[in-house]
Amino acid sequence: MAQLQEAATDEQILLVVDDREENRVAMEALLGDGQWNVRTVDSGEAALRCMMEEAVGLVLLDVQMPRMDGFEVARLMRGSSRTRYTPIIFLSAIAHTEESVLRGYAIGAVDFILKPFDSRVLKHKISALLEQERHRHELELLTQQLDRERAFNASVLDNASEGILVIDRDGIIRFANPAMAQMLRCTVTELQGSALLSHLHTPQAPSDWKDSEFYRHWRDGRTYRAHDAVLTTRDGGYLPAALSCSPLPQYQNSMVLIALDMSVVRTLHAQLESQAVTDALTGLYNRRGFHQALETALSRIDRSGKRMAVLYLDLDGFKRINDSLGHDAGDEILRKVGEQLKHCLRPYDIVARMGGDEFTALLDTLDHPEDAARVAEKLIETISVRHKVDGIDFTLGASIGISVYPECGNTVDRLLRSADMAMYEAKRAGRQQYRFFSPEMNGRARSRLMLEESLRNAIEQDDFVLVYQPQIDLASGRLRGFEALLRWEHRVAGTITPGVFIPLLEETRLINRLGDWIFNQGVRQCRAWQAQFGDQLLLSLNVSPVQFGMPQLVDELRRVLESHGLNPSQLELEVTEGALMQDLDATREQLRQLRALGVRIAIDDFGTGHSSLAYLRHFDLDTLKIDRLFVANMLDSPKDAAIVSTIIDLGHHLGLEVIAEGVETLEQRDWLIAHRCTAMQGFLVAPGLPVARAAAFPARLDWSTWQPDEPPQVIG
Ligand code: C2E
Ligand code: CA
Ligand code: CA
Repeated sequence: MAQLQEAATDEQILLVVDDREENRVAMEALLGDGQWNVRTVDSGEAALRCMMEEAVGLVLLDVQMPRMDGFEVARLMRGSSRTRYTPIIFLSAIAHTEESVLRGYAIGAVDFILKPFDSRVLKHKISALLEQERHRHELELLTQQLDRERAFNASVLDNASEGILVIDRDGIIRFANPAMAQMLRCTVTELQGSALLSHLHTPQAPSDWKDSEFYRHWRDGRTYRAHDAVLTTRDGGYLPAALSCSPLPQYQNSMVLIALDMSVVRTLHAQLESQAVTDALTGLYNRRGFHQALETALSRIDRSGKRMAVLYLDLDGFKRINDSLGHDAGDEILRKVGEQLKHCLRPYDIVARMGGDEFTALLDTLDHPEDAARVAEKLIETISVRHKVDGIDFTLGASIGISVYPECGNTVDRLLRSADMAMYEAKRAGRQQYRFFSPEMNGRARSRLMLEESLRNAIEQDDFVLVYQPQIDLASGRLRGFEALLRWEHRVAGTITPGVFIPLLEETRLINRLGDWIFNQGVRQCRAWQAQFGDQLLLSLNVSPVQFGMPQLVDELRRVLESHGLNPSQLELEVTEGALMQDLDATREQLRQLRALGVRIAIDDFGTGHSSLAYLRHFDLDTLKIDRLFVANMLDSPKDAAIVSTIIDLGHHLGLEVIAEGVETLEQRDWLIAHRCTAMQGFLVAPGLPVARAAAFPARLDWSTWQPDEPPQVIG
């Protein structure tokens, strides 16, 4: 604009071209009264030179001049961009032919004036033409400026490194700059005409434009900013971007969107974040990282119902090493311990250095707390070896505290604090140890560990044996079969009865491991006895609730039966009421499969469990075993007698065999015979017998005259 004003106020030159001096003087006299800036030259050449150098607003051009006439000057003027539009008035002394006048106009004259002329007319004409020329000139400058500005804007848009879009009210892209196209890996043409939402990652973007924040903000005349938008590139990639979308002036009915490529920033951010949670010395998590990891694990485990453990480890004797060998040696040791920790744990367990010589580990998804104890033992063992730094030998140690989720807490702080406290407890107890947070837990986990350990040994060293208690048919005295009972011949403690260890085995689910052994042992024995006792001999095996709940029970039994070649109908499984009642649907299915396999089912300890009689109707069974407590009391207590006879009747009505357990006297036996009980077992006849003695048992007792020849030797 400044240029334009300058040009307009600049006084324009009025150029008079005439070869005759008197004419030039006359014109100067006529026009040079101060109104215009008049310049006179005497030839066409001089005129052209003057116009090149100065701002000439109008030329009064003599037609007849030697060398170069007025027409020639006009022609040359029209050929140059500087003078193309400068108005020309031809002055001529002679009357021209119409043809030459026309020629003059064709070249670009705006007027033809014959000398002599009326000076007032000439002055008016000059005024008007100069005015017109000034307007033309202004317009030209204006156009130039507009062009320059347009080019400037275009270059800004083209060279901006941010993506710029203009979007119309319907969400369609009307303009896109090259940077935007580059960001989205496509061309500007491809972008123009496409819908904005089609370039946004879908989870964030609504499908309908009118529901989008872009549209809503635009409608309200506000700027919409999305700092964590994700754009989809044409090749299917994702580009993190910050967007701002502002309305353009209303009549334009559109908005301008600026997109910033955030991928570098995000990567940097991630890097910074990882630095913030990493311990620089060991590369493990730092305190903050561990907190975060624990938090995440807690939020996940809440849903999964699993357990997890936090281990708090403190090195024993580190301070001494650090003080005597210096910090570099200390750092090296910390790095080494970090490596050892990582090595001892599973790849997905989380290890951190909390600062100083304190480390933590998060053991995700444990089956039992004692698994954490095992890890702690391994860590202590690994760390507590001789180290050599700078040629000096020394031993390091570690004390570990363990807290278990959810028993010791269900928040990050609680778990860490509990583990920390337990760690101090371990230190106080004499270092090189681990401690669970709660004392009860500590004790339980330890005895379980010990039990598991000795159980593994016991299986390996054949410390388990089965003894066989005979079952006698009450009517005939015939040997019905044997119930296999487990004994643990402990090297130190002597014979241990199952009542002591079966519940623990059940709790730790180790019963399954032992169960396989029992099945194999019992079934093999029964098959071996076939030659002697025939193929009607039954083998009763006790199945614990945990075993009964295992889906693979039937497959396992089938395998064992097949491998020893025993007829499934010779096997009777004893299951307690409790085991049957755990999950009725599962029980029904398990019983169906066992039945399909062909094995018999007995209910053990019948009458002691809390269950409804109704299930007797629903479940497909073979035998009821009356609990020995009822038998023991039935002769003294009419109530117990009533219970026993009722069970016997019930069995008969349902077509089940009934076995009385724990029969110790002839009176009990006779009472049971009188009440038509099917079979009995008990010390009266024999306790659980070792294989050799069981093998010597008669296939049929001379029942009516039979007497217990010696007081029973209690093995079980
Ligand atoms: P149960 O199935 O009720 O076994 C009968 C228990 O009564 C046995 O004790 C046996 O020795 C004892 N007994 C037998 N006759 C008499 C008697 O006349 N008088 C007295 N007072 N007791 C008698 P045991 O062997 O200590 O077994 C206890 C429990 O341990 C069993 O109860 C059974 O539930 C479980 N068990 C035994 N062996 C196994 C096995 O191999 N696997 C599983 N899962 N559990 C077993
Ligand atoms: Ca039993
Ligand atoms: Ca029993």
